[in-house]
Amino acid sequence: MNEIQTFVFESLSIRGAIVRLAETWQQVIAQHHYPEALRRLLGEGTAATVLLATGLKGQPRISLQLQGEGPVKLLLVQCSGEFEVRGMAQWRAERQGEPLLGAGRLAVNLDTGQGGQQFQGIVPLVGNSLDACLETYFKQSEQLPTRLFLRCGEARVAGLLLQALPAKQTDEDAFETIGALAATVTTEELGGLPTTVLLERLFGGYTLRLFKPRLVKHDCRCTAEHLAGIVRMLGAAELDDLLRETGKVELTCEFCNRCFSYDDTAVAAILAGGAPQQPTH
Ligand SMILES: [Zn+2]
Repeated sequence: MNEIQTFVFESLSIRGAIVRLAETWQQVIAQHHYPEALRRLLGEGTAATVLLATGLKGQPRISLQLQGEGPVKLLLVQCSGEFEVRGMAQWRAERQGEPLLGAGRLAVNLDTGQGGQQFQGIVPLVGNSLDACLETYFKQSEQLPTRLFLRCGEARVAGLLLQALPAKQTDEDAFETIGALAATVTTEELGGLPTTVLLERLFGGYTLRLFKPRLVKHDCRCTAEHLAGIVRMLGAAELDDLLRETGKVELTCEFCNRCFSYDDTAVAAILAGGAPQQPTH
């Protein structure tokens, strides 16, 4: 179950999406040892980012970035238009015990990949939940009534999005009623029930149109080409120093936490502009 499924409420101008991730979520946090609270927040952020990637024109790459002054220093999740997701988080151990989301900001970036067009919306962190912060983001930046329900269990993450369709008149009362029905969802229901059963249980009185579910995959994108580019950016002098001191150049991908090692032959090949080889890790 690593799927995103979208649906619309017939004749109500409201759309919805449900995401459930199991193996894909496990791959996002593999190699990391996050404290429980941070793991849960990253899970919610991962579900949210995949949900936000639905309903966007032109399939931009979307990134959700949270920077905080409390225990959560950084949370970064990215999802492509093809629903390839990756994410990472950083923790301030010395702030443990303080509210998870203290002062800070939440940014949502859309990158269409065509000439680097980017749209960025930034809102201050409000409240102590990601759902609330994102609902504020939508209120301020997109002006679209939006409800988000995010859950991170032991083995999987799940989320439900409800949103008024843009450029259409959405009945506010109907949106509120549907939001209240969605708010009754339990972690077990959202994470475990088949989509049709879940939707019937929550919105049984409404006519829904369901679209084909899409697979959500983990893809870190730390390819040989990308890593070679980072090695090149270090510059010949810096690379010389590293090779002389340690006999190798090591890069750690902050997303998947894998460490990649290059010896002098590999570094010389990269600097000469040859086709990069997958480094040892
Ligand atoms: Zn990686």
